[in-house]
Amino acid sequence: MTQIPLNTPSVIPTFNPKAPNEVFDPTADPVIPENSPSYVPIKIPRKLQVWNLVGVVAPAVAVVGAMVATWGFGFGWLYLTLFFVMYAITGLGITIGYHRLFTHKSFGTSRVMTWFWAVAGSMAGEGQLLEWCAWHRKHHSHSDAEDDPHSPHHHPDDGELPSTFGGFLKGFYHAHMGWFIRNAEEEPDYKRYVPDLMKDQLLVAVANQWRFWVWVGLLAPGIIAGVITQSWAGVLLGFLWGGAVRMFWVHHVTWSVNSVCHIWGAKEFVSHDESRNNPVMGILALGEGWHNTHHAFPTSARHGLRWWQFDLSYVVIKTMSLVGLTWDIKVPSKERQAAKSTKKAA
Ligand SMILES: [Zn+2]
Ligand SMILES: [Zn+2]
Repeated sequence: MTQIPLNTPSVIPTFNPKAPNEVFDPTADPVIPENSPSYVPIKIPRKLQVWNLVGVVAPAVAVVGAMVATWGFGFGWLYLTLFFVMYAITGLGITIGYHRLFTHKSFGTSRVMTWFWAVAGSMAGEGQLLEWCAWHRKHHSHSDAEDDPHSPHHHPDDGELPSTFGGFLKGFYHAHMGWFIRNAEEEPDYKRYVPDLMKDQLLVAVANQWRFWVWVGLLAPGIIAGVITQSWAGVLLGFLWGGAVRMFWVHHVTWSVNSVCHIWGAKEFVSHDESRNNPVMGILALGEGWHNTHHAFPTSARHGLRWWQFDLSYVVIKTMSLVGLTWDIKVPSKERQAAKSTKKAA
């Protein structure tokens, strides 16, 4: 059987190619020049889509199933509240803090709020912020091309392509979490990707304390539940649901953006990669599922640009501006949106 290489890197022009050592500019919006080489979309194999769906849905069903199965003795309103409050704090710490504020500088805020978002993101347990931002900026520099740290269409193992069974499974695993585990031993190019963030003493300090904050995020719900229930069982269950299960959930949701949102959904804007707008992830990932829009306009603080594209992270950023906690919120103009729309009249 002849195997057709479905996504040979050479057919995917690296988006906004840069010289090897050129420093990443987080404030530059990607511009697709009129005469850029035409983008050849990757044909996503049906098998990759199916396995991606199973891999993403199964852990989510397991968490909800465990909640339902233990309701009344191992789970209840207190633990449900702790789970959601910690999901909101650490999830928004990633989406608003790590992603929209530090990686993309999409709005301005005070030093106290900068510290708050850095700490909230650290508690998610996805690594220290400088490293997270460096990998993510690299993702934007090379999205779905060979040097993308977590494209489901490439994995660095042996060059096996998604047209084979092993290849697409590896691609999915790599995009979902394999890249994260692999990169635990690897360092991103800090000087190239985050020189601006490394100049900020506050961010460097929080990055150095990140393990401490992970433990605070795990133990605080346990202590709160222990005080409320006046029991050691409460401490344990608070730690379990508000800490461990919540961390698993936030990891899973964040990683799903990397895999699902480069496989499933609509391409609303021209972005020269396989990023997609996915309504389910739009809600679960607190607005990050409008990922094609995000790749088209990375510096925008708002990812769901349509009124019906719910984007909780943007709602929070916008609400904070009403009380003077955020400012200079970047959102692309209607003209810029129209210029990149895939539905543009020919
Ligand atoms: Zn992406
Ligand atoms: Zn981004």
